[in-house]
Amino acid sequence: MAYTPTEARYENMKYNRCGRSGLKLPAVSLGLWHNFGGVDTLENSREMIHRAFDLGITHFDLANNYGPPAGSAEETFGKVLAQDMAAYRDEMVISTKAGYYMWPGPYGEWGSRKYVLASLDQSLGRMGLDYVDIFYSHRPDPDTPLEETMGALATAVQQGKALYVGLSNYSAEQTKRSAAILKDLGTPCLIHQPRYSILDRWVEDGLLDVLEDEGIGGIAFCPLAQGLLTKKYLDGIPEDSRASKPWGFLKEETVTDELIGKMRELNDLAAGRGQSLAQLALAWVLKDRRMTSVLIGASRVEQIEENVKTLDNLELTDDELKKIDSILAK
Ligand code: NDP
Repeated sequence: MAYTPTEARYENMKYNRCGRSGLKLPAVSLGLWHNFGGVDTLENSREMIHRAFDLGITHFDLANNYGPPAGSAEETFGKVLAQDMAAYRDEMVISTKAGYYMWPGPYGEWGSRKYVLASLDQSLGRMGLDYVDIFYSHRPDPDTPLEETMGALATAVQQGKALYVGLSNYSAEQTKRSAAILKDLGTPCLIHQPRYSILDRWVEDGLLDVLEDEGIGGIAFCPLAQGLLTKKYLDGIPEDSRASKPWGFLKEETVTDELIGKMRELNDLAAGRGQSLAQLALAWVLKDRRMTSVLIGASRVEQIEENVKTLDNLELTDDELKKIDSILAK
């Protein structure tokens, strides 16, 4: 059946300015790392993209290697766009990345100009797009000068193949240096995409300060620690979960009794606020105004609905924050 988005789609979402740019992003964005690949059901992927858009999620995050197989998430997204969302392209912020392994030989990964620009052309082909809104360097390359990788990002913008550029997984120091290079090239860094959640706070040790100083927005990936910060694993590992899938990045051995004990306590704390654990975890990331958006993943429509409802209660008291820390410190 043809898809027509609901007219109410902009009524409840919150849109935050990304750093000091003119671009606003939804407080909750959808990532297509898992559950949108060739191994997944196209119809379910399609329903999730539609539901997300109906809930005001205008930002969809991809990368060349998302699948599996690598590249297939971009193909899925391209199919959904072509089938019934092409008319809404200007209402969407679509991102992709280059950095991880895509093809054999010396030009198939990392940060050379040769790889980065070829990869973007391939991504555009798979998605059937003329341009992406944000093009990221997915990881820093220890063997390529930052000037070369940043130059490739700037070229993508000059070619009209990307509107903005971003960095992912760069340290605070690397971000600072890259931001200076990009500024000189006339293509300021729009956004940084780091891992950030209640369970992984490395960004607080310098990166967030650099983002603030440079006027760069932040978008947190794995804000639910791939599902650990949800009710999913409180009673064991469900069959349809990421931890149970052979290609899932969350490994069974990460789901320890000790960790789940703490998640149960966080779950009780969330319930006391009238929230789910997932909603508490997302509100926790969004409490820092340098975080423009949380980049969630999902395997079904209901998860997206639950996660967007986080916006009904974003306030966390000092007592609650202390309680969260004391549960995790046990
Ligand atoms: P999350 O931490 O949000 O984990 C998503 C998973 O958690 C879902 O697949 C689902 O697991 C589970 N989940 C989500 N909501 C709920 C809910 N309400 N109740 C129960 N379970 C829930 O994020 P991801 O790890 O998926 O990463 C998000 C995005 O971040 C990626 O899609 C990608 O765009 C980006 N990313 C970027 C990286 C980078 O290097 N730049 C690296 C990793 C991710 P299940 O599938 O088991 O149902």
